[in-house]
Amino acid sequence: MIPLHDAGWQTKSWQWQMSNAIQDAETLLDYLNLDLSFAPSEFPVFVPYPYLSRIEPGNKDDPLLKQVFPDLAEMNHRPEFTEDPLVESDFSPVKGMLKKYAGRALIISTGRCGIHCRYCFRQHFPYNDFQPDTRDWKRILDLLGKDPSIRELILSGGDPLTLSDSRLKSLVDEFSQVKHLKTLRIHSRMPVVIPQRVCAEMLDWISKATIRIVLVVHINHPDEIDQQVTQSINALTEAGVYLLNQSVLLKGVNDNSAVLADLSWRLFDTGIQPYYLHLMDKVKNAAHFDVSLNTAEKLVETIQNQLPGYLVPKLVTEIAGRLSKTIIR
Ligand SMILES: *Cc1c(COP(=O)(O)O)cnc(C)c1O
Ligand code: SF4
Repeated sequence: MIPLHDAGWQTKSWQWQMSNAIQDAETLLDYLNLDLSFAPSEFPVFVPYPYLSRIEPGNKDDPLLKQVFPDLAEMNHRPEFTEDPLVESDFSPVKGMLKKYAGRALIISTGRCGIHCRYCFRQHFPYNDFQPDTRDWKRILDLLGKDPSIRELILSGGDPLTLSDSRLKSLVDEFSQVKHLKTLRIHSRMPVVIPQRVCAEMLDWISKATIRIVLVVHINHPDEIDQQVTQSINALTEAGVYLLNQSVLLKGVNDNSAVLADLSWRLFDTGIQPYYLHLMDKVKNAAHFDVSLNTAEKLVETIQNQLPGYLVPKLVTEIAGRLSKTIIR
């Protein structure tokens, strides 16, 4: 175990952070001086040092710990919490692509992530059946070229920023050839959970890209934003990236109007525009994070009375079969 007060890990590369992430609940608890029982799980623990360092030792209720710790409550199953709550497998014209909404196509670029979030709606996703190989990528590019209605390509996953910079650079080059594509949107938690990811190689392909790049990060609690995250986000802004945030409303993490309001201000200070606040998808093993629709609406009403309109995220949910996300408030 590398002591957390030893700053040595901070200057290590993002690849090092990935290979040295905490991958079991016992080690996680040792680091945090906690003695708790935990659920056995098929979805393994994965917590990188930069994120671990923001968790308060000895605090079993820490809002960052809650997001990564396999609580015993994971074993309390509720029948409406299922493995594929969005029935996503129905919307795939080519392997690797989800085409649900007009004008946008979403690519499941990889199954890897820089953190494992216990509430993740893709935790049971059969990535092996969906990840595009070289031939599938060719099909995806063919389909993109032939469909001028697609104005925006969304790289999702897993986390697309776990791909290497050389791979991302060549993908961006190929996407830039498609004339009707206006923006490349990247959905990633990497700049937050491993801010070292925003390295010189990444900033190089980003600043050279001829297509507009939108990065949607995923931050649920203000404690996730530390000095290193701020620096990385600033570097992305300077490189010309447009930054948005999506959060998931989670019981015990951010189901509190003061936390949500503080989060919006912290995002604003960091140069990130609040975008969506998602009601959690009803995924198996995550029922203990559920916040009722009624509570969610009240929370958003409260922050709406306190914040400038542009800092209030849209409360949304995904209803299978709809033509867009459903805006609740
Ligand atoms: C959420 C989502 C999008 C993007 O929707 P926006 O409302 O534009 O953010 C696109 N495709 C799929 C499959 C999605 O789930
Ligand atoms: S980073 Fe995103 S895709 Fe990965 S586990 Fe967390 S919520 Fe799921």
